[in-house]
Amino acid sequence: MNNTVSLVKCKSYDEAQYAVDAVLELLGGINRFVKKGDKVVIKPNLVSKKSPDEAATTHPAILKAVIRAVERVGASIVVAESPGGPYNAGYLKSVYTGCDMVSAVEGTSAVLNYDTKFRDVSYKDGKTVKNIPIIEPILDADLIISLPKLKTHAMTSYTGAVKNMFGTIPGTHKAEMHFRLDDRRAFCSMLVDLYSCVNKVPVLSIMDGIVGMEGDGPTAGKNRFIGVVMASLNAHALDMAACKIIDYTIDEVDTLKEAVERGLVCDSMEKLDIVGDDINSLIIRDFVKPQSHFNLLKLLSLPESLNKRVVSILSSRPKMKYSECIGCGECMRCCPPKAITMVKGKPVIDRDKCIKCFCCQELCPKKAVKIHRSVFNRLMLKFLK
Ligand code: SF4
Ligand code: SF4
Repeated sequence: MNNTVSLVKCKSYDEAQYAVDAVLELLGGINRFVKKGDKVVIKPNLVSKKSPDEAATTHPAILKAVIRAVERVGASIVVAESPGGPYNAGYLKSVYTGCDMVSAVEGTSAVLNYDTKFRDVSYKDGKTVKNIPIIEPILDADLIISLPKLKTHAMTSYTGAVKNMFGTIPGTHKAEMHFRLDDRRAFCSMLVDLYSCVNKVPVLSIMDGIVGMEGDGPTAGKNRFIGVVMASLNAHALDMAACKIIDYTIDEVDTLKEAVERGLVCDSMEKLDIVGDDINSLIIRDFVKPQSHFNLLKLLSLPESLNKRVVSILSSRPKMKYSECIGCGECMRCCPPKAITMVKGKPVIDRDKCIKCFCCQELCPKKAVKIHRSVFNRLMLKFLK
């Protein structure tokens, strides 16, 4: 089991090239992973069309730095992503442009992927899923370089290297996964299956943790300076290091818990093999967790199959703030169980149908979807803390 994570402190995106080269060097250098003529696919985290200063997506300076490092070896480079929303060339273009990926590849040999073909991959070892649709560039690569962003996440509490692989599933197939796996633990188990399946390529993960997101991530939270770039051949180890920095325990993050149980990573943060700068000097004790993280069902170890009304009192749910809503309907289109309808130009949620995947919150362009907790929920949490 590889528990090695390279870690370099980095004060700003102006130093991205230095930090990327340094984390690669600490793992043995780029030549250890890439040979001349290889097909390298770089997979950033482009959850939706967001400008780099919103800290929701991989910063273009990190992408450019990784491209420059791979170019030195003479490999071909494709940048590929299946963002939240539809998977077609027009939508990809708007996301690449909005996230400033277009300028990141300018003047380099890398190309942005517009080929929207995908194949169903059989994964017999999967615990939760045994058949996964995956976009073609990923399947045809000699090496995948994944560029996760260090952020919180309303549904999974944390999103990083393992969750970044969810963007290898084409467009609306992601919504189907949410619909089929509406229980958070099952969804996280699928993410671990997916990473193991894609990792056959293999995957080298380099995390953009210079400015991350705290609060109601992955898109509606607040920027938080963290000041780190990390890399690993084991995305679980990388996520464990990131969670140590933002002060999550293993038990609080279902993908990590699942990976530990499957023996894919060490069972303690102290057992990670960190090379480079001191991780302990980066720990942020007051890193703000998403509202949905404080889940009474989880704290009281109650099953999510309880009566729906009880569940809605005990857990968090999405709620629209109409004063901030522009009526674009994006939340309605992305909602896996079709729980949202537009009434007089504003979205209305059918609470009985809602599976609390928070896709609406993730893809709302105006941060108009808030995470709501009942008064009882808030009082109980105060009492339990
Ligand atoms: S996505 Fe956001 S802005 Fe658009 S309709 Fe839904 S809540 Fe309103
Ligand atoms: S309303 Fe939002 S949280 Fe509920 S199922 Fe739809 S997208 Fe998911």
